[in-house]
Amino acid sequence: MTTYTAPVKDMQFILHEMLDVSTSGIPGYDELEADFTSAVLEEAGKIASEVMHPLNATGDQEGCTLENGVVRTPTGFKAAFDQVREGGWTALDCDPEYGGQGMPYVLNTAVNEMFSSSNMAFNMYAGLTHGAYSAIHAHGSDEQKAKYLPKMVSCEWTGTMNLTEPHCGTDLGLMRTKAEPQGDGSYKVSGQKIFISAGENDLSDNIIHLVLAKIPGGPDGIKGVSLFIVPKFIVNEDGTPGERNGVSVGNIEKKMGIHGNATCVMNYDEATGWLLGEEHKGMRAMFTMMNEARMGVGLQGYAQAEIAYQNAVSYAHDRLQGRDVTGAKNPDGPADPLIVHPDIRRTLMDQRSFVEGARAFTMWGASMIDRAHRGEDKDADGLISLLTPVVKGFLTDQGFNMCVAAQQVYGGHGYIEEHGMSQFTRDARITQIYEGANGVQALDLVGRKLAQDGGKHVMAFFDMVKSFIKENSDNEALNDGFLEPLKAASKDLQAAAMYFMQNGMKNPNHALAGSTDFMHLFGYVCLGLIWSQMGKAAMEALENGAADADFYNNKIKTGRYYMARQLPATKMHLARIESGADPVMDLTPDAF
Ligand SMILES: Cc1cc2nc3c(=O)[nH]c(=O)nc-3n(C[C@H](O)[C@H](O)[C@H](O)COP(=O)(O)OP(=O)(O)OC[C@H]3O[C@@H](n4cnc5c(N)ncnc54)[C@H](O)[C@@H]3O)c2cc1C
Repeated sequence: MTTYTAPVKDMQFILHEMLDVSTSGIPGYDELEADFTSAVLEEAGKIASEVMHPLNATGDQEGCTLENGVVRTPTGFKAAFDQVREGGWTALDCDPEYGGQGMPYVLNTAVNEMFSSSNMAFNMYAGLTHGAYSAIHAHGSDEQKAKYLPKMVSCEWTGTMNLTEPHCGTDLGLMRTKAEPQGDGSYKVSGQKIFISAGENDLSDNIIHLVLAKIPGGPDGIKGVSLFIVPKFIVNEDGTPGERNGVSVGNIEKKMGIHGNATCVMNYDEATGWLLGEEHKGMRAMFTMMNEARMGVGLQGYAQAEIAYQNAVSYAHDRLQGRDVTGAKNPDGPADPLIVHPDIRRTLMDQRSFVEGARAFTMWGASMIDRAHRGEDKDADGLISLLTPVVKGFLTDQGFNMCVAAQQVYGGHGYIEEHGMSQFTRDARITQIYEGANGVQALDLVGRKLAQDGGKHVMAFFDMVKSFIKENSDNEALNDGFLEPLKAASKDLQAAAMYFMQNGMKNPNHALAGSTDFMHLFGYVCLGLIWSQMGKAAMEALENGAADADFYNNKIKTGRYYMARQLPATKMHLARIESGADPVMDLTPDAF
């Protein structure tokens, strides 16, 4: 069976050596002393490996069941959920006014990675609740916040996000669910939503559904969409769950992965709801929390790759097949372990360099979100808004690929269910689809984010890369394998952006046909920059005589691998982008 060990040391390195949180100047980061974060991460790691991970395979095998309108989660989920919420883990970065602990988002991100790696389907119940909490916190009235947030922070009540309908997922302007005003401040919400994660469950006393719907007579399309709070049980004056509302689960989907999370068809039959935020501004309300939600899905992508990698490494040490061509390493045994073979080492290095880079990139992104929110820094907000589709799209596409790579280390034993490797791949697959399919993330990046605020944020990104290279140009060790590849990759990204500027106006298809390549090219450059920053931090630690030199040397070697073996992919993506729309669009639809 699979195992999970929380990467506490690596997270501590990112927080205290790469990001150097104590000197960052971000409000609240002065609390993040190394001893404190180490204690939090160690404790979270125990919950992840001892409480959540043992339920991962159970959740996959049993799945959720629907009996008489009630969804039963897999054996053990309820007790573990209670333990997690009673331990305060669901409240870590929530507002203290509503019972939260007010910790920075960056720390919550590290904990969230552990929980996602160890049991993604289980962690989604709290994750969706956090998303709904954030929307109410940002857009709710004081009364709504007081009524719902304390119970959602403690996860006594869970939350859901209801956007998708049978005929619309991406194009939400086609939405049919309607909300009729009742004249007393409430609305009657009617319609059907599908694919609603955690839509119904037996973990909580109430479920607070956030539902997008149209108020009749409002503007057509996406501009006429509003957001509503629709509780499963209408909350009494004294704050207790009261009368059952007109919302029910029609079915739960059978699906490829995340079996432990109930994916529900939700029927709203004149359910009582209350407007959240302003009329017809539902999408705007959703978008304010989209950065966090999409970062969270990007995190899920690499978190699955992390646990898949951990297990692939131990299998590569144990499994004896073939001999090292340069001389036997296990001469007394029948064969050498897989790890001696260069092709196995290549794939493990691909996985490791991706996961460590993705973790640091995501935690850096989380620190940008903290800087934007806590420091009210508009430039940080613009930069993370630009990079959010990259985090979501690149980390989930690559995360899935790396789960497949880890399966491959097991050969046929990765394909059968016995060893648990197939679950990581199956669970990771959804991250490429939900919270905006990755093709749509790429469209958002190229069609909207690149040109946002006159291209200011993409220019800020290029400046960040350029300044790093310039400031470190005399650093001999960084010149060995880091700075030149970063410069070359960044040039490829600039050339791609220039191609879109010169050709996208003439024919937008020239930009759209290259959008996924651009998102990946951008992702490679981001990880190239992050690896250079980590390389620098590791070199400084060694110069300062840090204990555990192996950790830092291995960090530098893994970084050099990334720069030499992964980053050159930017050339391929640029060539594809510069081939324009014609090769993509040449066949007529009838020819397919
Ligand atoms: C397990 C699971 C859990 C989910 N959880 C939730 C949830 O909690 N809440 C919720 O509201 N939804 C949820 N979803 C729904 C999910 O967000 C949607 O499936 C997703 O947004 C895509 O919508 P769709 O399936 O309708 O695909 P479509 O919108 O039909 O898109 C199909 C394909 O076409 C592409 N495409 C669409 N439009 C364009 C375009 N203009 N240009 C280029 N390509 C395009 C897309 O990228 C996609 O690959 C969940 C789905 C699943 C499977």
